[in-house]
Amino acid sequence: MGDNDGLVLGVDLDGVCADYEGAFRASVARQLGRDPADLPPQTVMDAYSEWGLSFTAFERAHRHAVLEDRMFRTMAPMPGVSEALWRLSDLGVWIRIITHRLLFNWAHETSAADTAAWLDLHRIPYRDLCFIGDKPHVGADVYVDDAPRHIVGLRAAGKTAIVFDQPYNRDLPGPRATSWDDVVAHVEGLLASRARQVPLPFDGVPPATVPHPGRAGERPTDRPADRPADRPADRPADEETPR
Ligand SMILES: [Mg+2]
Repeated sequence: MGDNDGLVLGVDLDGVCADYEGAFRASVARQLGRDPADLPPQTVMDAYSEWGLSFTAFERAHRHAVLEDRMFRTMAPMPGVSEALWRLSDLGVWIRIITHRLLFNWAHETSAADTAAWLDLHRIPYRDLCFIGDKPHVGADVYVDDAPRHIVGLRAAGKTAIVFDQPYNRDLPGPRATSWDDVVAHVEGLLASRARQVPLPFDGVPPATVPHPGRAGERPTDRPADRPADRPADRPADEETPR
């Protein structure tokens, strides 16, 4: 994995990897006998008040969409998500899926099973699958999410969070990704900055100024003077943040 090992990417599913709103729109239109075109894109993330749903109506419709229409198994992936996550995985990024799908009781078996089936079906590489609403308590180096409250909560907790662009999160400051290619570019930038933060061989002492007598049996490459002099000697030690 080289210079990039250890970077954990926390990845949300709905509205980021998967087209939740498209699947829910189709289900709600069927359930209520409405034209999907009459159900506009959400510009406020709530219980779909812009579709005329109360919270109780949303809960009923969501439960039907999950249990009867099996939306977590059948929804469409976002364009390019599999390819992008494979690219990052190949760079050594640890993919940690973090989703808040267990919204209501008595649908958990179907929600969890259909989520895992969907991830396999769409060839999403991942190492961990976390069902949790309190996302800042799941460790990751960088997160990608679409929900304003999650983005705000993650940033308040000091985390780096990429906003996956949706109509209901446009007022949030960046970093922002309007596609999975953008997510890759952001994470590659983080990997590049991390790769530049290489620890010094010996606590900030420039190798060229330290005589090294060598030891019996020591290989030449073990000696600091033989290591590449790839850092300026006057770089302060506190710039180095090995993780
Ligand atoms: Mg989401």
